[in-house]
Amino acid sequence: MKVMENIKHKCRSAYDTTKRACNNMWQRVKPYTSKTYEFIRRPLSITTLCAILSLFTMIVYNIPVIKAVFENTSDNFNGVWLFISFIILMLILNFLLYYILLYFGRVVGKVIIAFTFICNALCLYFINGYHTIISQEMMGNVFNTRFSEASGFFSMGLLMYIIFLGVVPAILIFMVRIKYKSIWRFLICFVTTLAITFGTAYTNKKNILWIDRHATQVGGLLMPWSYTVNTILYVRQWIEMNRPQIPLPEGKITTEGKDLVVLVIGESARRDHFSLYGYERNTNPLLANDDVTPLIATSAYNYTTASVKAILDHKPTDDRYEILPNYLHRCGADVIWRTSNWGEPRLTIEKFYDNKALGERYPGTDPNYDEILIAGLKEEILASDKDKILVVLHTSTSHGPIYYSKSPLQFKHFLPECREVEMADANISELVNAYDNTIVYTDYILHSVIETLRELPDIRSCMLYVSDHGESLGEGDMFMHGLPAQMAPIEQFIVPFIVWCSDDATKIKPLAEVGQYHVFHSVLDFLGVESPIFNEELNIFDRDESSIRHIEEIAEGEEGADATEGTEESNSTNSEE
Ligand SMILES: [Zn+2]
Repeated sequence: MKVMENIKHKCRSAYDTTKRACNNMWQRVKPYTSKTYEFIRRPLSITTLCAILSLFTMIVYNIPVIKAVFENTSDNFNGVWLFISFIILMLILNFLLYYILLYFGRVVGKVIIAFTFICNALCLYFINGYHTIISQEMMGNVFNTRFSEASGFFSMGLLMYIIFLGVVPAILIFMVRIKYKSIWRFLICFVTTLAITFGTAYTNKKNILWIDRHATQVGGLLMPWSYTVNTILYVRQWIEMNRPQIPLPEGKITTEGKDLVVLVIGESARRDHFSLYGYERNTNPLLANDDVTPLIATSAYNYTTASVKAILDHKPTDDRYEILPNYLHRCGADVIWRTSNWGEPRLTIEKFYDNKALGERYPGTDPNYDEILIAGLKEEILASDKDKILVVLHTSTSHGPIYYSKSPLQFKHFLPECREVEMADANISELVNAYDNTIVYTDYILHSVIETLRELPDIRSCMLYVSDHGESLGEGDMFMHGLPAQMAPIEQFIVPFIVWCSDDATKIKPLAEVGQYHVFHSVLDFLGVESPIFNEELNIFDRDESSIRHIEEIAEGEEGADATEGTEESNSTNSEE
């Protein structure tokens, strides 16, 4: 009993000591906490608060973008002014954003700003840790990521970023009391900030190419604009892509026999870098001996999504008509889509495989190179029970900026290769070397497709290769593609259109020039699909009529054979029909 009493007594005295110590500490800290609390709760004018928030956003969340701009501007007067302009614009635009949100939104404005702080913290973690750029594609990835995949990113570091750079500032913004100004003060502020914005932008008009070149990087790092603007762009694209397609009039397969078209969609492949079209370097050593027909073509657009749509559409249009693979699928053909790229319109086919899925299916082939698109292709074609087959291979072979990463070692015919991501600093001849190696690799891919088709002698087949758009390789200080149409140079539109056919009866018309809309009608013709929207003028094929076996004629022939005792009169009527 005594022992128990002793323990009880000790516990009580320990409790009392701790309580006293805590009380003492609280008494000492109390004046500071209440002072901090009072400081935070001190009413602040909306202008001062927005200025503080804008400065805070720059210092806490935007160091990576400031660093990127600093590293990409030269140290002459123009470069320094460009850098200063960027800082001014960032401060002014964030100030204006916060002002509008708080002035019109009040509590809702605070909620939105608090939400952006948490998003900023989250993005900053990935930018610092994974060197991510918050682009439109990245937002697409975010919205398409399952929780199980995202949970792999959770870490102590991420939690710290969210708490200290997201949650704490978010709580503080709720604690601040705001003194709102009159609408006139708001309007003066609004007009002044807009005037500074336009003035600064105007003095930088000659830097438009710099802005264009770095828009993705700078825009992808700038908080809170990166994820806001790119989410809007992604959602807009998603809605556009998922708009119901306008169905085309019924089409009908009218010819007999097994026919196959392999449509290879190129990425950023430029016609004048193919030796088939007269390029002085031998970039097509294999296709040169493959009996292919190279046609002169111009792309309808200079960026992927619009160009791929043009390749699959039956006419130039902004509307979402049923595209070639969906139409053929509905007509009863077998359609297989294999891709290492993205940006195609919505597909309503069953056999869609991206390079990741193909990599899992064919573990012997490296999914990082476009060869994966032809792995097991022959077997897949042979397994089809349909007579008419369309295979689409959507490649990414010449996609910049890191061309060197797109071709395997054995295709590096031109060295040294540029390994610089920042194209403005690239040595142009090394950049062209790396680009030309992707064309050498394209040559191999196309040759392999033709070889595959040659191994299928019972199937009448053809390969159509057309690139989505061209590419700028430093001409006029321009790189890549996708410049606004009025600024875009011709290099971004000149594309190869290469055709190979397995049979001699199918000829290619001697056309001076073709376009991407020729694909739809030529494929329809090759697969014997009759349709009210078929346009002979956009058909590259000229087929010997006597070689075509029409299903109706065959059916009639069988009927005739079945009717063993048919009258002469009825037979002649049949033949007239
Ligand atoms: Zn493209």
